[in-house]
Amino acid sequence: MYNQSIQLFQRAQQSIPGGVNSPVRAFKSVGGTPVFMKSAKGAYLFDEDGKQYIDFIASWGPMILGHAYPPIVKAIQQKVMESTSFGAPTLLEIEMAELIKSMVPNVDLIRMVSSGTEACMSALRLARGYTGKNKFIKFDGCYHGHADAFLVKAGSGMATLDIQTVPGVTAGVSNDTLTCAYNNLEAVQQLAKQYKGEIAAIIIEPIVGNMGCILPATGFLEGLRKICDEEGIVFIFDEVMTGFRLAAGGAQAKLNIHADLVTYGKVIGGGLPVGAFGGKKEIMQHIAPLGNVYQAGTLSGNPIAMIAGYTLLTALKNNPNIYDELAAKTTYLGDGIAACLSKHKVPFRINRFGSMISLHFCNHDITDFDTASKADIPLFNKLFHFMLDNGIYLPPSAYESWFLNNALSYADLDKTIGTIDNFFSQQA
Ligand SMILES: *Cc1c(COP(=O)(O)O)cnc(C)c1O
Repeated sequence: MYNQSIQLFQRAQQSIPGGVNSPVRAFKSVGGTPVFMKSAKGAYLFDEDGKQYIDFIASWGPMILGHAYPPIVKAIQQKVMESTSFGAPTLLEIEMAELIKSMVPNVDLIRMVSSGTEACMSALRLARGYTGKNKFIKFDGCYHGHADAFLVKAGSGMATLDIQTVPGVTAGVSNDTLTCAYNNLEAVQQLAKQYKGEIAAIIIEPIVGNMGCILPATGFLEGLRKICDEEGIVFIFDEVMTGFRLAAGGAQAKLNIHADLVTYGKVIGGGLPVGAFGGKKEIMQHIAPLGNVYQAGTLSGNPIAMIAGYTLLTALKNNPNIYDELAAKTTYLGDGIAACLSKHKVPFRINRFGSMISLHFCNHDITDFDTASKADIPLFNKLFHFMLDNGIYLPPSAYESWFLNNALSYADLDKTIGTIDNFFSQQA
């Protein structure tokens, strides 16, 4: 069934480390051979053997309206005729910045970069430059890209590979990274007291997507906001996953809590390499060339990347019903899976917010990395392969959220629920 993928994976390993250009793709935690994709349309992926899959990854988010979304394809085709890069400012960059500002709250100035990693790395540097302090707080299991400072207890990718500390990241760097458990406000208060006057920033995934989908407990984000206000700490929302996915205004709008700096990636690029960080003018004006916190990028604001993102964001802005439709589909899927698992008497938890959903096999609530780790991961891995064989492409790790795209039909969701039902019928 996977003949081409098996051959390609062997060939890839001869010239690409581990055969992949990003570790989670290697199927290391679920085992087996990664599937090599050839094309995709709407909600469906097609692999090199011609096998079709219902896609629940959406390229980890960007394909929120489905693959090969015709307006994006057309816009790229037209734009590419005018040059693929200038290394000089363009009108489209202004339009993109204005569009983002019109959609998200609380952003006076926004800088485009080429990945979520760059966005988070730059936002942290800015927070440090602005406050003149070095330390920052992140939460166990949250992922903020692969910049050195963030590679401490950094969620799915590292957890999947069972990497605790990363060779190559110096102790000097890691020592300025303070961590605590997600949803543990007291631990943050403790750190704020212990390191009073030394903390530049608190960075968080406002809804977590990198250890499954995890929701902030009531009052948690509000409590962090308060600590930041009291201690002069820059509050950074990493909305690389949630931005433009949960709502046009992202988690900030959905949860009605404002960050000082916000980072974007994934959806913002419509499937091309784009990230961005932005926020209050008071802070953003410290970025070069306005200020002296240096940050730059040869391909930042690249016209092809900008037109893809601009086209997708415009579609999302003009039809906010998309978010209700996505949430309704996600609820339908979650309810269907829940009914099926209850019928089979399988202990489970489903966490869900908007179009993000994760399934954990356990008898305890999933509220942080520790609780996520204690779910039955071998069972998820078994289910993963059954689903894959039956044409349903779930994220290849129990630590990942699933991302719905609006090209999914209710028939696709029924098939997904039915396939889970078949799996547990066979297990019994
Ligand atoms: C994916 C992700 C990143 C990193 O983005 P890249 O584009 O992969 O560098 C950062 N933060 C969060 C929350 C993410 O999900």
